[in-house]
Amino acid sequence: MPPSLETVTVDGLALAQEIRGELAAAVEAHCAAGRRAPKLAVGLVGDDPASASYIKGKRRACERIGMDSSETKLPATASQAEVEALVAELNADDGVDGILVQVPLPKGLDAAAVARAIDPSKDVDGLHPLNAGLLLQGHAKLVACTPLGVMEILRRQGIALEGADAVVIGRSDIVGKPVSVLLQQAHATVTLCHSRTRDLRGHCLRADVIVAAVGVPKLVKRDWVKPGAAVIDVGVTDVDGTLTGDVDTEGVQGVARIVTPHRRGVGPMTITMLLRNTLAAYEARLGLA
Ligand code: NAP
Repeated sequence: MPPSLETVTVDGLALAQEIRGELAAAVEAHCAAGRRAPKLAVGLVGDDPASASYIKGKRRACERIGMDSSETKLPATASQAEVEALVAELNADDGVDGILVQVPLPKGLDAAAVARAIDPSKDVDGLHPLNAGLLLQGHAKLVACTPLGVMEILRRQGIALEGADAVVIGRSDIVGKPVSVLLQQAHATVTLCHSRTRDLRGHCLRADVIVAAVGVPKLVKRDWVKPGAAVIDVGVTDVDGTLTGDVDTEGVQGVARIVTPHRRGVGPMTITMLLRNTLAAYEARLGLA
């Protein structure tokens, strides 16, 4: 057993609330200057209860910092053209600053095509190819929310990234790829692992920072973690009604320097970055940024 150190379990909700306070102050300042409040428009296709609950949480978060929001529901039977027509309507609405179409979409709908239909200046999920390309080339405008949340946690926890070895597990467009780019731009040396990676444990053991965005419960175990490493758990999987992360959070106590719990960890930061992106889109659209 490695020497025991005091592991900090990051309170993502407290960090999120701190940032939301800063965002609320910015929104208040805009309104005090006689401007309208920023507005997030969300689209929900179908009646998946988890998606409905995520949207409710996002709208409540908007309301709490003084932002406007709207919700448009389409039936699960909506066609690709109908979903894209909704996006076109929101693109054309000058009072809308951010557009989010909740995923997963019902079977048969093409989520990537929907992301491509969103006006890049309102793409607060950062999934439009223009925004993904700008990020890759170091000129990021709107970046996917979970990767931004991960970076903000590392920054606010004082984790030094320059020259650090970082391992990202998972290579999705929404988490793994953008977070690996952001880490590399923060001057970490990044290894991007995935389902075909040989010796995943060996890669993790060399890492100063591990970001697990996989969806395999408790994949990252105590004996995968180098003493003093920062471990960020993005994964959320429903195991018999209990949400479980990609990291054995209990197991890494005494080895990791910091670990994020799967509840009150990255999740609240993701929503906070959505709010931050909406404010940034509003300020850019009004020529204030
Ligand atoms: P995804 O699109 O399914 O991607 C999963 C990635 O994990 C893929 O790149 C896959 O590799 C890799 N992978 C699967 N099994 C693996 C294994 N045994 N070893 C190594 N790599 C493996 O998922 P995602 O959308 O990125 O989400 C990942 C997790 O994060 C999910 O649990 C999701 O619910 C959660 N999530 C949480 C938040 C939040 O705010 N907390 C936000 C977004 C996502 P291949 O590419 O080779 O298939």
